[in-house]
Amino acid sequence: MSDEFLSTSWWRYDRYEVDRLYIRPAPGARLRRYDPWQENTAALARWRDHEPPYITLARLGDEYDNGLLFGSLSKRTSAVSGVNYVGADEKLLEAVGDWCSRYGLLGVLLTGLQAFTTAARYRPEAAAFWGESARDLPTTRTFELTAGQWRLCDTILSAPWLGRPTAATGELLDQEVARKAFSQEPGLPGALPEPGLALRRNYHSFGAVVSWRLQPLDNWAAFFPDLDPREAATFDYPAPLSEAFGRLYAEPLEVFLHHARIFAVALRNLKHPLPPVGAAMTAEPDAYLETLRRLLAFVTPDLRSDPDHPERLTAQWSSPSLLSTLAFMAYRDLTGGGRVGFCRRNACGKVFLARRADQEYCSPRCKATAKKRYQRHPEIAQEAIRLSKQGLSVAQIADVLLLSEKRVAAWIESDAREDERSTERDHQSGGQ
Ligand SMILES: [Zn+2]
Repeated sequence: MSDEFLSTSWWRYDRYEVDRLYIRPAPGARLRRYDPWQENTAALARWRDHEPPYITLARLGDEYDNGLLFGSLSKRTSAVSGVNYVGADEKLLEAVGDWCSRYGLLGVLLTGLQAFTTAARYRPEAAAFWGESARDLPTTRTFELTAGQWRLCDTILSAPWLGRPTAATGELLDQEVARKAFSQEPGLPGALPEPGLALRRNYHSFGAVVSWRLQPLDNWAAFFPDLDPREAATFDYPAPLSEAFGRLYAEPLEVFLHHARIFAVALRNLKHPLPPVGAAMTAEPDAYLETLRRLLAFVTPDLRSDPDHPERLTAQWSSPSLLSTLAFMAYRDLTGGGRVGFCRRNACGKVFLARRADQEYCSPRCKATAKKRYQRHPEIAQEAIRLSKQGLSVAQIADVLLLSEKRVAAWIESDAREDERSTERDHQSGGQ
């Protein structure tokens, strides 16, 4: 796949504030659009050891998991939703803030979102006849993801009993009445989500019977902390990916970390697949691959005309969220010769992307530390040789001692050479 095709757009602020509930832009932070693909390619050209963002995200997921495992995180009650959530430690919060300042939020709400219709309200008529001033008419507003773009679709509700010519612009319709009018509109029922509902595709719960569902907009309160939660159902949401949307949107910390874990678990299982456990796993034997696949499903090839040569077309990819773009980056790296590795240095064990076949450490620093350690601890080599003499294979020893096969093989080989030489010496001395 040629790099020139790899282009997509996302937004980020230059600084994020992370508390135990939310990740959101810091006060006064500047919004900037950027292309995650181009930036990743440019960084890789400049630094050979540049790590793709899905890897660094997966590490945050691992840290979160370790925190859960060793109990350094504590259960708290969310002030917003009233549900229990797991608080993360300060170091993790800081790391999350750094990651987001570099790449932005994941766009979890936009992943899988297909269409939503905001509460019906009075809106100025788009086209007024000559000599008439524009009237305010009861209107529903649907945003629909079509061919990689959010398309706006306003529908004037024409049920005659709705007429209230004196209503002010923006005034809400009674939502029960609006839904009833919507359901009577010719051609509409079943075509678009009803006012107050969003249509989304399930991409992470494999046990679910259906892959599509309608979700009430009050569920969105969790992503818009500046709104009064009671307003979430009827709020006049701006177009997704617009600047106004970016300014309002925040990501609950737990949701962000949950998705970081999705990457961590998927990558770990690519390397060390778990045997299927229980019925849920048997239904999706490749659950870890399936996770990445489902996120990839939202990425589509796209094209636009070249501004300098209108007769030519340029290729790009459209992705609804950074989350899907990250899955696409993983797809590209892992099908293009890269592989997932876990650092061989015992104390580290971090996930990394190996771009070279013989890469065993997450970083040059870990490599240097590990090397020093083996020089300081000749007993590790002795142990490897002892196990080899007991009949263990190189691969088995490497597994037991958490070493690379290459290193174990080298020790055994040099030991065998040493044996040969001493046998020769014995022969020579015996012959004298
Ligand atoms: Zn390491």
